[in-house]
Amino acid sequence: MLEKELLFPKGRIRERVKELGEQIASDYAGKDPLFVGVLNGVVFFFADLMRAISIPVKIDFIRAASYGSRMTSSGEIRISKDVEKPVRGRHIVLVEDIVDTGITIAFILNRMKEKDPASVKVCALMNKVERRQKEVPMDYVGFTIESGFVVGYGLDYNEEYRNLAEIYVLKP
Ligand code: 5GP
Repeated sequence: MLEKELLFPKGRIRERVKELGEQIASDYAGKDPLFVGVLNGVVFFFADLMRAISIPVKIDFIRAASYGSRMTSSGEIRISKDVEKPVRGRHIVLVEDIVDTGITIAFILNRMKEKDPASVKVCALMNKVERRQKEVPMDYVGFTIESGFVVGYGLDYNEEYRNLAEIYVLKP
């Protein structure tokens, strides 16, 4: 196990997710939104966020596979599991665990726009700004961080640490 340092404790995550849920519920009232979670890291955040939204929600999932090392994004991306519900004319909220270079979410956003939705917005638990390559609109952000590799609350390093209840930064 690598050394890690606590970044966001449980209470802080719970509070922030509640605020995001309230904001989204008020923005999407009457719009019958479809929330699309970007697998796998998002599952814990997604489950908590959906329960923090007081209006009816519909959910679906998409998964992007990238080639290359997990600590960096290589930029080569494909959709390995697409959404299954119809997207045309719907208000879509893409839900991501973390946006780093922006390559993954930019790719998914483009794919989603090709399906002719009424609107698409992006919600990310964390926005990591230092290595951004693709400018993507970040409509809802839980936490902004400069840099570092974070794990826990769904986020992994080589498939470890996902089930930690809090978010940690791995020491290099
Ligand atoms: P991007 O394409 O924006 O560079 O990276 C997006 C994906 O890379 C995230 O969905 C996540 O899977 C992974 N990623 C980026 N930064 C981190 C990080 O700090 N920790 C973990 N566990 N995954 C990360």
